[in-house]
Amino acid sequence: MKFIIATNNEKKLREMGAILEKFGVEALSLDEAGIESDVEETGTTFEENSRLKAVAAMQVSGLPAIADDSGLEVDALGGAPGIYSARYGGEKCKDDVERYQYLLENMEDVPDGERTARFVSVITCVFPDGREISARGEIEGEILRGAYGEGGFGYDPIFFVPEEGMTTAEMSQERKNEISHRAKSLKIMAEKLEEVL
Ligand code: IMP
Repeated sequence: MKFIIATNNEKKLREMGAILEKFGVEALSLDEAGIESDVEETGTTFEENSRLKAVAAMQVSGLPAIADDSGLEVDALGGAPGIYSARYGGEKCKDDVERYQYLLENMEDVPDGERTARFVSVITCVFPDGREISARGEIEGEILRGAYGEGGFGYDPIFFVPEEGMTTAEMSQERKNEISHRAKSLKIMAEKLEEVL
C-alpha cells in the first residue's frame, strides 16, 4: 500500500516514513507524488490544521495521507503562540531566534513558577474511505529567561525540561527524539495504525 506524507520537511518525512515502513507501507512525499500542495492553515487547533494538510493531499492523490502540526503552548500567554508558533511575531520576527526573543520579552513580567509550557504535536491520518486517525503528543516544560544550548531548533533554547535538568537545545538529538512531543504522537499513531492496517 502507498501513503502520502504531506510534508516536504526532510526530518518529518523520515520520522513518519519509518513508522509506516513497519506496516509495509510505501511512503511518498508530496514531491515524490508530484503533488503541489500549499495548504492554508486556517484551522484553530493543531488537530484541524494537521487534518487540513492530510485531507488536501488525500484528495489530490486518492491515497491515504498523513500530516502533522506542532507548536509551543505557554500557559501564562493563554496558550500562545500555539498554532501560530512558526509565524509568531509576524513580520517583526524573521527567524527562530527573533521569535523566541519576542516570546521572552512578552514574558518578562511572568514570575518563576508560572512559566509553564508544553510542546504539542498532532499527527492526523486520513483514508479515501473516510476513516481518520489522530494522535497527540505533549512534553511539559518551563520557559527560561534566556537561551541555553546549541541543538534543536525553534523554541528549544528557552524550553527547560525539569526531569532532564536541561533545555531541549542542550539535549542530545537522540534523547530529544526519545521524549519529545513528536516521539509521543508518532508512537501513538503507530499503535493506532496497528489496529487498522
Ligand atoms: P509546523 O512545522 O507548522 O508544525 O510548525 C511548528 C513550529 O512550532 C516550529 O516552527 C517551531 O517554532 C515550533 N516547534 C515545534 N516543535 C518544536 C520543537 O521540537 N522544538 C522547538 N520548536 C518547535
